[in-house]
Amino acid sequence: MIGSTRNAILEWIAAHRADVTRLAQSLVSFPSENKQPHGNERACQMFVADYLRDIGCRVDVFTPLEVTGLTEHPEYLPGRDYAERPNVVGVLTSQPGDVVGKQAGRKALLFNGHVDVVPTVGQGQYGWWDGTVEHGRLYGRGANDMKGGIAAYLMAARCIRELGLELKGDLILETVVDEEFGGANGTLACRLRGYNADAAICPEPNNMLISAAHRGGQQFRLHTCTEGIGMGFGETIFPDPITALGHLLVALDQYNQERQARPKPKGFENDVFPLMPFSMRAGEMLPWGTGESIPQDAWVEFWIEIPPGVTRQQLQGELKDVVARATEKTPTLQRVTTRWEERTRFLAGSSMPDDHPILGMLAANFSSVTGQAPSFEPAPFACDGFIFNLHSPTPAVVLGPRGANAHGPDEWVELEDLVALTKIYALTIAGWLT
Ligand SMILES: [Zn+2]
Repeated sequence: MIGSTRNAILEWIAAHRADVTRLAQSLVSFPSENKQPHGNERACQMFVADYLRDIGCRVDVFTPLEVTGLTEHPEYLPGRDYAERPNVVGVLTSQPGDVVGKQAGRKALLFNGHVDVVPTVGQGQYGWWDGTVEHGRLYGRGANDMKGGIAAYLMAARCIRELGLELKGDLILETVVDEEFGGANGTLACRLRGYNADAAICPEPNNMLISAAHRGGQQFRLHTCTEGIGMGFGETIFPDPITALGHLLVALDQYNQERQARPKPKGFENDVFPLMPFSMRAGEMLPWGTGESIPQDAWVEFWIEIPPGVTRQQLQGELKDVVARATEKTPTLQRVTTRWEERTRFLAGSSMPDDHPILGMLAANFSSVTGQAPSFEPAPFACDGFIFNLHSPTPAVVLGPRGANAHGPDEWVELEDLVALTKIYALTIAGWLT
């Protein structure tokens, strides 16, 4: 890329800072909540489709279930309703024909983001959909995860377009439905629809890291059960799901500590993979305020994270072993039955080749835009990246903004980062495709 192009990009974005914020606010204003199995992404997606048309993209709007081969794919997650939930893909290209990107044998760069957000619960200081800006932060559901990052790549594309830069390949810009709660079907549908590239950039909020890899995980509910026995008058030894569950929690905690000592994949050497208990239920509070009988069912729900390379079979096999080993030495556990429930799909961790040239280009642009050295670290969360890295010819890297409170009240994203990312993305598009 010649210096004058670089300067033109940086100047254009500096002059359009306010537009970056406004676009992110517009995206946040849509209550695109994912209330599985349903969702409410349509209005937001129509807004994105109009934006993409305005900047000269060829636009494809389709629901995941319209895509041939989706329901037969091993990673297809059944049970979701996709009525009125379209994916949107925009392609900036100078070439005719429906086949684009890698599929057409052309150079291509792809950006992927999900517009669905976790439903609102509770109340914070800032409105969920107001897009309040304060102290350099944009507040609102989805600001951080991940409409801020989407605004950055949409603005980067507009910059390329308005500067009239001619692309020697295809720029693919997609926004998908149904990522939260382990969906991934939206991103999978885009791959099967034929949208593939030399690399994909996902601006999930990883705090401005360049992440060639990301964790995986799965959410489970572990039950301890017995037949109804009331209070158990007379017995001295009785089945006790609550105490049994206590034993299992201790066993899981121990397992989690032990597994941290195992050799970890490259890049994850310093990572700790959490097991996070989210909720627990057992017994009933009676109208007068006490409990008076042994419950038939007790459970704990937890999320557990894993490095790339761990398979569903491995993870689930190990967890079942934890229960089996604890049961062997614990009479309380021998008197109840245990049952596993999968609360999300298995989400694999994954990585792209760490010598992929997109990483070097992002790093150089990161340094020149921020004046700081980039950090190469895995993204500390599960995301749709595994669909790219494990089930498509397009390797994916995560680079997204700083922020906090994703999935909670007063979620926010750092506006300075959105401007920096817009610059980094635009320079990378220009570097890769011109
Ligand atoms: Zn996300």
